[in-house]
Amino acid sequence: MIEFKNVSKQYEGKLALDRLNLTIPSRDFFVLVGPSGSGKTTTLKMLNRLIEPTDGNIYFDDQRIIDYDLKQLRQRMGYVLQNIALFPNLNIQENIAIQAESLGWPRKDRVARARHLLAQVDLDPDQYATRMPNELSGGEQQRVGIIRALAIKPQVVLMDEPFSALDPISRKQLQDLVLRLHKKLKMTFIFVTHDMHEALRLGQHIAIMRQGHIQQVGTSAEIMEHPANDFVRGFFQNEHAVRPETVQSLLDDGYGQPTTALPTLPADAPVSELAAMLRQNQAVVVATAQSQRALSTPDLLDYLATKEAD
Ligand code: ADP
Ligand code: MG
Repeated sequence: MIEFKNVSKQYEGKLALDRLNLTIPSRDFFVLVGPSGSGKTTTLKMLNRLIEPTDGNIYFDDQRIIDYDLKQLRQRMGYVLQNIALFPNLNIQENIAIQAESLGWPRKDRVARARHLLAQVDLDPDQYATRMPNELSGGEQQRVGIIRALAIKPQVVLMDEPFSALDPISRKQLQDLVLRLHKKLKMTFIFVTHDMHEALRLGQHIAIMRQGHIQQVGTSAEIMEHPANDFVRGFFQNEHAVRPETVQSLLDDGYGQPTTALPTLPADAPVSELAAMLRQNQAVVVATAQSQRALSTPDLLDYLATKEAD
């Protein structure tokens, strides 16, 4: 368990976090969400002591993090950056195992761990382990960035907007992937985003931040049903305002298969029109800026089910 107790942070006289109190249960998927400048990165980086608080204390398993040996603390906290920056001169398995190597793991164990993790994220180890980073797509590199943080089996994984630079389809795939990894690995995931939709999709618990203060902490259902104040309510409404119920929303979420067939429905058509057409057709082709995608009934059902779950 992680606890922030009255934690404040001042940068050159400016208060970035104001007496933050927060409890993160072990093995939770915990999301910090808020607009730019609200203090998310500061909160996250205080956990592995890249930033020290000006006031207050943070506890990790009932011990103050300033009382941990710094190296040991960081071994227990994996860290995924927004810009993954794999080492260009190391191959993929060496990139994944770099921390394990510095801890003196034998080569055989490092290779086994790297190959195991590649398989977990659907990158065939026989194909990918010895490739160089520039031989991978952006989304594939980001997958490696994620498993690299898991290589030495940390207890907690810190992720700071890891997907915000990706296109919507890669983003959806990587969200599914971190959800799957979280289920499997029994680690605590702490995930920062400015996107409320992403927060609702991923978080078991969500903390909404604004100007260095927590506005509300709860499950997605609690926050949606009982927003604590106008800011939280507005944060949702803005998200929904930019996500009207058109076929584009399905495309944004990554549904459909690429196809070369001609479009039969514009992307700005309402979802109800797609439903009507799918009664008569196996698939409906919609054009995006880059390509055409064929949407089928299972796509529509999955999309609606995810919306329900949100
Ligand atoms: P977020 O990640 O939510 O965008 P940050 O934690 O990065 O927010 O920043 C919170 C506030 O602290 C912002 O007003 C930001 O400008 C300020 N801040 C962050 N880092 C520094 C720094 N190193 N020096 C001065 N001010 C900073
Ligand atoms: Mg940030």
